[in-house]
Amino acid sequence: MNLAFEQGPIRPPSEAGSLLLRLTRNCPWNKCAFCRSYKGKTFSRRSLEEIKSDIDTVVEMCRLLQQRSIESGFGGEINRQLLTKVYHSGDYQLFHVAAWLINGGRTVFLQDANSLVMKNADVVDILNYLKKRLPSVERITTYARSSTLARLRVEDLITLKKAGLSRIHVGMESGSDTVLKFIEKGATARQHIEAGRRVKESGISLSEYIILGMGGKRWAQEHALETARVLNIINPNFIRIRTLTIVKGTTLAQKAQSGEFEAESEEEIIRGEKLLIEHLDGIQSNVVSDHSMNLLEEVQGKLPGGKSALLAVINRFLSLPEDEKQNFILGKRWGVYRVMNDMHDASQHARVSAAVAMLKKENKLEETISQLKDQVL
Ligand code: SF4
Repeated sequence: MNLAFEQGPIRPPSEAGSLLLRLTRNCPWNKCAFCRSYKGKTFSRRSLEEIKSDIDTVVEMCRLLQQRSIESGFGGEINRQLLTKVYHSGDYQLFHVAAWLINGGRTVFLQDANSLVMKNADVVDILNYLKKRLPSVERITTYARSSTLARLRVEDLITLKKAGLSRIHVGMESGSDTVLKFIEKGATARQHIEAGRRVKESGISLSEYIILGMGGKRWAQEHALETARVLNIINPNFIRIRTLTIVKGTTLAQKAQSGEFEAESEEEIIRGEKLLIEHLDGIQSNVVSDHSMNLLEEVQGKLPGGKSALLAVINRFLSLPEDEKQNFILGKRWGVYRVMNDMHDASQHARVSAAVAMLKKENKLEETISQLKDQVL
């Protein structure tokens, strides 16, 4: 029988190479209007024994992989050939651990949506156990909700940092109280600020996720300006950009259906991104666009010095002639382009142009773009 440990479904893209260790199951809030990650699933806490037993299983898997490496003539090294063998064995979790070891075995992500809802002393216990059993680990990160963080004292967070917690990922989504209320985020701008301030003060690295387009047409300007205002106060280490996709089965999809929420066009979303970035001031954050749903993945750089370069990318898109904008949007959503420079490939450009012309003739361009966007999820 294969060794196994429990894992949840979600991790940030930046944790692709991390070992996923589940502390709690699902989301204790589970009400955000745009989110379907844990819909229909009940939140529960895992016992310390269960979590420690999972860590022991990972240690055992590392030993097993080393043994297989020796038996395969690789001298104990966890290399790509061994990884391929494990992959073909169909043991997904052993493959996950082997891939993690190849990445250096240095990073761990604690799942699921709000690990710090656990008692602080219990998280510290887990962090200590994790580092003792897996000494190669250098970075440990987790998601946390602002409403939870705002209840922790800076001293609690410092204790977590000393025990090894390196980074906290927070879904801020918007800095506008109107938008936060509308999407039922369960956190106010003030709580986002308080939570962010405490994390920063503790010395733990902070990633804030914001969603372009989250204000819809109605609150587009307020969303951009208030989000910039809150980020300027927090000064997070990372501002991670996401773009709104209205997912079927969510409350937001119902609100969109009823007309209560009107989504912005791709260009309007980019205008909102421009407004947001123009108003980011006096902070030293890394702006990261690490999701393929973002139309302009090139919007990446470090503030304050990189601000003009970020805006230059956006202005480049906004100053394209209308047919070129449509070409890029369709090509991007179709997966033909990743970044604007990919439009320089003449044959791909011609291919997309032909598709744009055909879809416009059939009056299906907008509909097709939105269908392609949904498929990315
Ligand atoms: S807190 Fe996060 S995981 Fe939970 S419902 Fe909101 S977006 Fe989804």
